[in-house]
Amino acid sequence: MNLKQHIDHPLFAIIGEEAAAMGVQAFAIGGFVRDLILDRPVVDVDVVCDGDGITLAQRCAARVGSPKVSIFKTFGTAHFAYDGFDWEFVGARKESYSKDSRNPVVSAGTLEDDQKRRDFTMNALAISLQASNFGEVIDPFNGLNAIAKGEIKTPLDPDITYSDDPLRMMRAVRFASQLNFVLDNESLEAISRNAHRIKIITQERITVEINKIIESSRPSVGFKLMFKTGLLELVFPEMHRLQGVEIRDGLAHKDNFYHTLEVLDNVAENSDDLWLRWAAIMHDIAKPPTKRFQKGLGWTFHGHEDKGSRMVPRIFKRMRLPMDTKMKFVQKLVLLHLRPIALTKETITDSAVRRLVFEAGEDIEALMILCRADITSKNERKVKRYLANYEKVLERIEIVEESDRVRNFQPPVTGEEIMEKFGIGPCREIGTLKQQIKEAILDGKIPNEHQAAWEYTLEIAKEMGLRLREI
Ligand code: ATP
Ligand code: MG
Repeated sequence: MNLKQHIDHPLFAIIGEEAAAMGVQAFAIGGFVRDLILDRPVVDVDVVCDGDGITLAQRCAARVGSPKVSIFKTFGTAHFAYDGFDWEFVGARKESYSKDSRNPVVSAGTLEDDQKRRDFTMNALAISLQASNFGEVIDPFNGLNAIAKGEIKTPLDPDITYSDDPLRMMRAVRFASQLNFVLDNESLEAISRNAHRIKIITQERITVEINKIIESSRPSVGFKLMFKTGLLELVFPEMHRLQGVEIRDGLAHKDNFYHTLEVLDNVAENSDDLWLRWAAIMHDIAKPPTKRFQKGLGWTFHGHEDKGSRMVPRIFKRMRLPMDTKMKFVQKLVLLHLRPIALTKETITDSAVRRLVFEAGEDIEALMILCRADITSKNERKVKRYLANYEKVLERIEIVEESDRVRNFQPPVTGEEIMEKFGIGPCREIGTLKQQIKEAILDGKIPNEHQAAWEYTLEIAKEMGLRLREI
């Protein structure tokens, strides 16, 4: 195979020329070649040469207007940004691993040595940049075939590949999810055998891969593989615990793991937001610890939304996920995920809708996407009924939003105004007054307007024994 037409950027030929001038050979390699063949967008170009990669990078940069070259001496790599791409250079290497580290001892090697150390056959493809065979694909492990068949295979014995660097297990699962490829049986079995080795990988690296799984178009693919190989139990035990069905007195509950994956895939169809997808993963996370069987009634999970939202910080901290507004967003959605549908259990009152919009604030749309995704029953009649209820709630939210604008609700009477008009300094009464005004508006007792709120303030202030300042 020759991919000359596909590597038409002039820098590729320059790299070949500079390599020749140094008496070495250079190749495009790795993820760049894989994504080129898969027609996925590429931003990083990986270049390898059987010599000094740093010198090659410097010589090439000098030919194209001297962009700044960053050099990583310990890794023997260098890169520069040019023309919208990130050009990464490395000298071909041979690697040998020790038992307790994923960082190998490295020595200079040939292109073939370098291809052997790569994780998957599809990631070991190289393209020649030499003038004599420019564009020719060098494929010692049949990576092209693996790409054509959508298979993830290791170039060497999978037990060695995964045990040497256990991060590759997460990468394998992530690529399967991202590219919709299958793991060959040998890889599946080897990952299952080596899953326990994941403990030598830092949490940050694991989380990067989990997030890439979550960002793929059908994240359930990756999570099912993690479950099957035993990785999930090790890296995300709370999610693993969702799996399983218990039957008592002939009454079963649904399998919350597969339900969660359905919800996650549904959300993924409607939103690219990583954190909304995290909220889908976490929405029922506290079902196992809140599960009870009530005679004659069946299974209940009372308070799972509340307990679940309280589990979020611990899980985020352990996973090295951001402990900021993103976490708060996930917490909020987990806490509120039952509310919209619960509204339909009775007649929907404006005040209940108003309270929900007020509590969800900016995140009401995200919450509604999650609720919609949460409707997964196999019973078609039930789904139809839930959907109809859902639409009703959506409609009511819109109406209340339009008339009352409670989303970013601030009581129309401020603390400053209260202090000034009643001639008082900061005190507890101010908080009480503001709280009561807010409640009255949310309950629909008074409209969300200054005049009405002020009249109401005067009424309750009188009861509290406050008097207007004499002017
Ligand atoms: P992505 O860029 O989507 O994360 P990638 O495969 O391009 O995927 P990079 O981290 O950019 O990943 O690495 C570039 C190449 O380096 C890979 O295609 C692969 O050939 C090699 N590589 C990366 N990580 C490993 C690893 N843990 N073990 C072996 N080879 C690896
Ligand atoms: Mg890459």
